[in-house]
Amino acid sequence: MHDWTKIIKATTVADKETGAVNTPIQLSSTFNQSDFDHFGEFDYSRSGNPTRKVAEEAVATLEGAKYGFLYSTGMAAISSVLLTFSQGDHLIVSKFVYGGTFRILEQVLNRFGIDHTFVDLTDLDAVRAAIQPNTKAIYIETPSNPVLSVTDIPAIVAIAKEKGLLTIADNTFMSPVLQKPISLGVDIVVHSATKFLAGHSDIVAGAAITDNKELADRIYFIQNAVGATLGVTDAWLLLRGIKTLGIRMQQSSSAALKIATWLEQQPQVTRVCFPGLKSNPGYEIQKRQAVNGGAVLSFDVGSEDNARIVAENTKIPEFSVSLGGVESILSYPPKMSHAELDAAEQAKSGITPGLLRFSCGIEDPDDLIADLKQALALIPEA
Ligand SMILES: *Cc1c(COP(=O)(O)O)cnc(C)c1O
Repeated sequence: MHDWTKIIKATTVADKETGAVNTPIQLSSTFNQSDFDHFGEFDYSRSGNPTRKVAEEAVATLEGAKYGFLYSTGMAAISSVLLTFSQGDHLIVSKFVYGGTFRILEQVLNRFGIDHTFVDLTDLDAVRAAIQPNTKAIYIETPSNPVLSVTDIPAIVAIAKEKGLLTIADNTFMSPVLQKPISLGVDIVVHSATKFLAGHSDIVAGAAITDNKELADRIYFIQNAVGATLGVTDAWLLLRGIKTLGIRMQQSSSAALKIATWLEQQPQVTRVCFPGLKSNPGYEIQKRQAVNGGAVLSFDVGSEDNARIVAENTKIPEFSVSLGGVESILSYPPKMSHAELDAAEQAKSGITPGLLRFSCGIEDPDDLIADLKQALALIPEA
């Protein structure tokens, strides 16, 4: 079945009682047990809720896996997956990992003896060299934020399998319609469902997905033990948002390619980072493991002053943090997502003072280009 059909079938699960085609919002913390000796499937909503269950099965289906878990935020999902590891375990983590993931590893999990090494996962020799006797997993995020560097998922999976390590992939930037890490051999996929999955900048949510029963049991145990589960209304909004995921990703990713191609030709733009461009070092790998380059790009306009001119003069995109909404979002990583890094650390990660990130929405791409064009034209000639 094509993804677009699968998405609608997975998110349209009629209510058994009434036939309502949309899953009811079951606002109940507890469930009446009709039999003293045998309890039903649901007892308490932290442990399981019928609305959340439909949404959990939907995200699992989209990733081509059996088991899905939903959380109150993307960070709740990522933290909960990382809590399946134990004191003394070591993880290899992409050097360009999301800031919140960096923070939980560096400032929380290390206090409980879960150790890590940040490695540039595009350097496979460096990955091999970082493996220690107590290494348990490799954590991938591709394309990375904000410079969209591409990690070769099958190459990392091959190293992990050879050494008996698990692989975890943050698939937020691609969404399951553009990239399916489980089909490439990854053990656990995590998402900030806040972004493309929900797609409307209206909720915060997270997901963890696996096809492995033993890992699913470990993840469920932590989900129930920690309790950072997704609320029922938000689970319903997530289901509603996912229904249009296929058509949104098609529109937004083709717009991103059009805009990136155009930006590359503009004299005010010194660099465009987008794995859908042939000029991108990750282009060939991206082509092998994903449908296209995705819907997020970044570009450099040479200086902070020039970035300010573009941000202050574009009229269509929202100037804000986050990504993955139906509305285009322009952000300035040096002062937003990556403000915690000092100038030297930013430079090492390719986060230059003129870098802007653009998350393409579903507006007409020619309108977005016209808007960027008039803003770029205000940059004084060097
Ligand atoms: C936003 C984001 C997260 C964190 O998700 P929240 O929903 O904000 O907690 C994790 N990974 C990536 C790649 C993200 O973009």
